[in-house]
Amino acid sequence: MILAIIFVLVVFPALISWADYLKKVPAYQFVVDGEVWFTIANRGALEKALTDYQQQYLEKVDPEAQVKKISFAQDVQFVPVEVRKDQIDPFEYAVERIYAVEDEAVEIIIKKGDNFWNLAKTYNITVADLEILNPEVDPHRIYPGDKLVVSPFNPVLDVMIELENTVLEAIPFTVQYQKNNNMFTHEKAIIREGTEGEKEVVYQITLRNGYQEKLEAIQETTLKEPTNALVRIGTRTTVYRGGRVNYGVVQGKRISSTYGWRIHPITGKRRFHDGLDIAANHGNSVYAYTDGRVIEAGWNGGYGNCVLIDHGNGLKTRYAHLSRINVKVGQKIKTGQKIGAVGSTGNSTGPHLHFEVIKNGKTQNPLNYL
Ligand SMILES: [Zn+2]
Repeated sequence: MILAIIFVLVVFPALISWADYLKKVPAYQFVVDGEVWFTIANRGALEKALTDYQQQYLEKVDPEAQVKKISFAQDVQFVPVEVRKDQIDPFEYAVERIYAVEDEAVEIIIKKGDNFWNLAKTYNITVADLEILNPEVDPHRIYPGDKLVVSPFNPVLDVMIELENTVLEAIPFTVQYQKNNNMFTHEKAIIREGTEGEKEVVYQITLRNGYQEKLEAIQETTLKEPTNALVRIGTRTTVYRGGRVNYGVVQGKRISSTYGWRIHPITGKRRFHDGLDIAANHGNSVYAYTDGRVIEAGWNGGYGNCVLIDHGNGLKTRYAHLSRINVKVGQKIKTGQKIGAVGSTGNSTGPHLHFEVIKNGKTQNPLNYL
């Protein structure tokens, strides 16, 4: 009798709870590259958490861009299992693991005199990578106090996003020269101004954790052809000398950035470039465009060491990012006179001359003036 009472009151409930404890329920293991990260009961809630996690990397992407595919760089699987209830992990733990970070982004604060070129050197990365890490920053417009990412945010679970974005871009015009024996070598006459063309470019983009990993133009459609400028010049040859190009104001390598609007293919943000960038060797001489008087010579914020010349008739030219300045304010200048040397001071991504033409207070496309 006593045994029966013990059985009913103690052993039986213990057996019931033991059986309940051993009972298995359906669940899912979240497996990353073959390693079980956690076990969860509600697959729907986990999928929602993963989607939220992936979507955060779309925040800074152009809303006009077409998202083709979102995936993880790692092999990610949901494996259906039967486990005891106590083997199921709390949902908060799952979220914590999904959002785990390997390396936080390293941000620096811009100081006076910093530019993309010397910062890239300091942090041992390329200028191109610095631009990729900071797609919202215009390298030509950084100011002391601004923040700049120099080392990327690196989560444990990498999100890969494939995009396609169509942007309008300018087609720069070229300048055709017509030689004239009756003109002095430094003389120029614009017969026809050039106008930029327009094209539609389709970019195929791959982002890893929001940073550009691959960017490729896969299709270009010309909407409007450019009209080349026609300039009459004195008999001296103006172009191509031993692979170098004589742009008049500097002996350069190539035009690295033209004048006008630019749309960032990832962020969709528009930027205006108010001059012509001519990539050139550090220290190359910079020459005055034409006769005039120096009205600015010295440090000028993002322009770095900069010279501004007034040529009269509402025409001014600016020469920026110089490593050296050879003229003083008020000085009279002759066409082709040396005014300084190519550098990378101010907001610059490498040694180049930023040449600006200002007519009646408005910047003009310098290609029409060279
Ligand atoms: Zn520039």
